[in-house]
Amino acid sequence: MICSVSRRIHAVSSPVLRSAAFYVPVIIAIALFVLQSNGQLSGGLQPLDTTSPVTYFIADGTGQPGYRASDRQLALWALQAWQRTAPKTLQFVPAAESVALVRLYWTESDEGGYGEMRPLLVAGRHGAALSIQPDVNSMGGDIARRIKNDALLRESIVYLTCLHELGHALGLAHTRDFADIMYFFGYGGDIVKYFDRYRAQLHSRDDIPSVSGLSAGDISHIKAIYTR
Ligand SMILES: [Zn+2]
Repeated sequence: MICSVSRRIHAVSSPVLRSAAFYVPVIIAIALFVLQSNGQLSGGLQPLDTTSPVTYFIADGTGQPGYRASDRQLALWALQAWQRTAPKTLQFVPAAESVALVRLYWTESDEGGYGEMRPLLVAGRHGAALSIQPDVNSMGGDIARRIKNDALLRESIVYLTCLHELGHALGLAHTRDFADIMYFFGYGGDIVKYFDRYRAQLHSRDDIPSVSGLSAGDISHIKAIYTR
């Protein structure tokens, strides 16, 4: 599944179409259309097998556009946020890439998307490969302008993207609730506002591990899946 916002929006040319009042809603409408056409979940979501610890691997994204060495820590914090919230039946342990059930990679965007999850089968166990796009600048528009002056907004977006895709890896589907990390942008709403809501809770990057970004709905869903 792809949780993406298209940036293929450069075909607008007439003067009236260049006005911000027209352009911004058009960008959002096109993005949401693309999301609804290719971003819906289409199977592959299922709980991870917790009869033994769930192994994970977080790749080094050195060389990927926009990647920072500290991004691995954001991914780990996202993993730990789910770990703290889920019932004790779910335990993550690090492992080599070749055997890890959950594998998180950093990738260059092809469609301006934030992230993607692909189901994996590892020695007969269901797993997931996640692709996170750390080059937030490539999103363009308001987000690109804002992160130039607000490093914590960029960190918030990368963290929340990891959190969202890890939610899919754990078997959670999209929701229609704007409060949820599993909210699907295709249902509408202000995407910048969505990220800002989390950003506003941070005074420094070190706050991220204590501000999970999970809503009551997310917590309810993860507990329902992994409570035996
Ligand atoms: Zn998604």
